[in-house]
Amino acid sequence: MPDLDAATPAVLRQAADYAIDYRASVPTRRVGARPGLTSDELRAALGGPLPEAPRDPRQVVDELIAAVEPGLVTIDSPRYFGFVMGGSVPAALAADILTTAWDQNAGLYLATPAAAMVEEVAGEWLVELLGLPAGTAVGFTTGATMAHFVTIAAARHAVLRNAGWDVEEQGLQGAPEIRVVLGKDAHVSLFNALRMVGLGRGRAIRVATDDEGRMITRELRAVLAELPAGPTIVCAQAGEVNTGAFAPIDAIADAVAERPGTWLHVDGAFGLWAAVVPSLRHLVAGVERADSWATDAHKWLNVPYDSGLALVRDVAALRAAMGVAAAYLPPAPGAERDPFDYAPEMSRRARGFPVYAALRSLGRAGIAEIVERNSRVARQIADGLAAMPGVRVINEVVLNQVLARFDDSDEVTRDLVRRIQDEGTAWFGGTTYHGTVAIRISVSNWATTEEDGARTLDAIARCLAEARAARDG
Ligand SMILES: *Cc1c(COP(=O)(O)O)cnc(C)c1O
Repeated sequence: MPDLDAATPAVLRQAADYAIDYRASVPTRRVGARPGLTSDELRAALGGPLPEAPRDPRQVVDELIAAVEPGLVTIDSPRYFGFVMGGSVPAALAADILTTAWDQNAGLYLATPAAAMVEEVAGEWLVELLGLPAGTAVGFTTGATMAHFVTIAAARHAVLRNAGWDVEEQGLQGAPEIRVVLGKDAHVSLFNALRMVGLGRGRAIRVATDDEGRMITRELRAVLAELPAGPTIVCAQAGEVNTGAFAPIDAIADAVAERPGTWLHVDGAFGLWAAVVPSLRHLVAGVERADSWATDAHKWLNVPYDSGLALVRDVAALRAAMGVAAAYLPPAPGAERDPFDYAPEMSRRARGFPVYAALRSLGRAGIAEIVERNSRVARQIADGLAAMPGVRVINEVVLNQVLARFDDSDEVTRDLVRRIQDEGTAWFGGTTYHGTVAIRISVSNWATTEEDGARTLDAIARCLAEARAARDG
């Protein structure tokens, strides 16, 4: 066995030196993985027989770096526009590294008072920052998918409690039926959550949406009017994953209020952050009237993966759905908040530290500036695309999302995506939105500037010329 105590400082310095160099290269590195890389190559570099003998940690780190480098994508690049990812601001990145070094188990106060209190403080700041009702409870999850799971479980508790049914004790078998109502363009993660909490993704009632993917309030009212009285959960979306559009949450809240006891949930994985920006706040008007919200810190707060937030107005409902009780897990000495009463896991990473560090580092003004600047760059890219002959922007750019189509051709549009990913200046993917093949650009990195927007437009123009040349033989 190598002398591991002696190896620890050396291997940490080695990793830190590499991490510092890697991060310094992020603004200029190619964005995509190495062109032409295959999974077989990665397997050959990483695989081989199960290691039988111990190996020096420094060698392990060296070999790991060498094997994975070609397959890394510079997700933190200011020109990474894939999915909706976000990067990591320096304070959050550093706090995340410390989180690993401290290796706290953030389940309960008694195990780690500091990690528990950081979540409490960061949670209170987040509720204020996002303009949600004071006292809203916050659970720290891996992402918005698990935040949906947590919040829908709290909703399930509340609507069945109102119907005289204890779902935590009795389960769903024999329970009054819960109706879940959501928009036709609801994010797939919400369906995953419905599947996990036993409500069934296929049973959700889908309300018609408009061209931008916004739930149509008139259609929601028609659906609710047809429903028999009983437990009901309505899910609205703040930020459609393709177009960035917002459902009219205030009007939806009005419709929901006419059906007392109905739970209103908001998927605001990235869109909820519009609440921080005075000039964008109108997009989420009425959002504070909901009962629960799911959002991500690893998207627009620019905290490293993985970091989601489950926010629930009715603390008792959340604790009923998630709370833990066991004799060997005593309550905190001063009845402090135990994080495992607000999220599904018992043992888990202390992901409050990086969230806290991001909030403290950026402040309200810094977060607003990022969201506003990213949205400005999205508009810049959309305007630049619209000015290119043969290019059509197909969504209304209200936030950070841009969809565009080239020469009204699936072939050219798809070929452009491949060429951009290989070319390396920027990275984005494709989508099919309401039946139309398009590129999909999402701007959500703290470091992205207008210069990145301009360089991306240049790269698109070059790749488009090549794609057209290839099509024309
Ligand atoms: C990203 C996203 C999700 C899922 O979030 P994860 O953090 O990936 O689990 C849900 N809804 C919307 C609108 C999203 O953009």
